[in-house]
Amino acid sequence: MSLDLLIKNAKVFTHAGPFEGDIGVKHGKIVKISGDIQEQADKTVNLSGKYVVPGLVDGHTHMEFPFMGEVTADDFYHGTRAAVAGGVTTIVDFITPAPGQDLMTAYKQWREKADAKVMSDYGLHMIIREINPIILEQIPEVIRNGVVSFKLFMAYKNELMLLDGQLYQLIKKISDNGGVVGIHAENGEIIYELIQQFLSEGKADPVYHYYSRPDILEIEATNRIASIASMIGKNVKMYIVHTSTGEAVDIMSEYRKKGLKFYNETTPHYLVLNTDYLTRPDGYRYIMSPPLRSDEQRTKLWYRLASGDIFTVGSDHCVYNDAQKKRYKEKVPPFHEIPNGVPGVETILPLLFGLGVKKDIISMERFVEVTSYNPAKLFGLYPKKGAILPGSDADFAVIDPNRKVRISPDLLHSNINYTIYDGLEVEGWNVMTIRRGEIVYEEGQVLGKKGSGMYIPGKLPVLV
Ligand SMILES: [Zn+2]
Repeated sequence: MSLDLLIKNAKVFTHAGPFEGDIGVKHGKIVKISGDIQEQADKTVNLSGKYVVPGLVDGHTHMEFPFMGEVTADDFYHGTRAAVAGGVTTIVDFITPAPGQDLMTAYKQWREKADAKVMSDYGLHMIIREINPIILEQIPEVIRNGVVSFKLFMAYKNELMLLDGQLYQLIKKISDNGGVVGIHAENGEIIYELIQQFLSEGKADPVYHYYSRPDILEIEATNRIASIASMIGKNVKMYIVHTSTGEAVDIMSEYRKKGLKFYNETTPHYLVLNTDYLTRPDGYRYIMSPPLRSDEQRTKLWYRLASGDIFTVGSDHCVYNDAQKKRYKEKVPPFHEIPNGVPGVETILPLLFGLGVKKDIISMERFVEVTSYNPAKLFGLYPKKGAILPGSDADFAVIDPNRKVRISPDLLHSNINYTIYDGLEVEGWNVMTIRRGEIVYEEGQVLGKKGSGMYIPGKLPVLV
């Protein structure tokens, strides 16, 4: 058999440990893994000295996302271009139905938006923002179309927030159909009160975004939703998206010890940045929800990442340019008017590798688990994605483990002119990305074609 692509002399890391050798690729799939492959290949790449990991699966992106009166600056083209440059070969993006819109219409819209533009492969989650008979009836159909995970909000009152009774009904319905529930866990009612209070006192600077969303409101909401979901039964598969406190991780871990499939996702910005960034002149760029926290919380998250208590790392890539962030005003607007969201899809790899693996906080096995293996399992994409096994898609990120890089916007590919990690120094950088056997990024050059990514439907059961 002649191969399409032969990867030679790679140091390969999977969730199960490292091995050295060659990988043969045919028709976009891994067909052979061995110490020394001698077969003919159309293309051979020698990766000695480099680390090869499964292409990252970023389970949390918002491309072309309509929110807070703006649409995010990265559409599916720019966003997935940035993704492949960062070693991410699959994103899982959030379908966000408009108020009153049914789920299947929104699903079709998102497929239409994404299919023509994506460079990485992609899956989809479904946000549910309201409850009515049509929405409940469509949940099984949505799942049959490969959207096996859902996101429900306990915050953003009057926009996306659901009440406890609605959350209960939806978790039950989704779980009865085998789906996964993602929760934005913050107490939206109290946040709403705190925002009104600060505004009435003339406290409108970006740092009040943090004071209006204190740690305890994530911890309370996590505790509440975990209690509610635990009543529903053992068939619930639930994770807290973008967890920002160690305590919220511990709540889910306690339930997991009792046999429930409860997990946490965190994001790189909660591991790397702290609340001080909100006090800078460009503090408006650092507004996302939940907000950046203390160094003490950052440390707690790193420990829980290392221990395995945090299950996945997603970027929550949700990009607004400066004009959008400032609502087209000269001055920074009051904190509650600033669109929530930060870039991140392209920097998961260097941040977790450089600040986690290289600093001996997490192992390479953990790196692979949280960036590809676990999200692929959670969203029904495994073993097509998140694995280096015969039959899996030939998706790889290639890391130069010794490359020292100072992060700056000119190295990155998002449709904005800043990065929240400007000036940060890391060791280790993605130098090549292979998606279904095709080199889509190499040494600063994006080589993939617009629209060459594919929709990857999630399959039930998840977490097998
Ligand atoms: Zn999000």
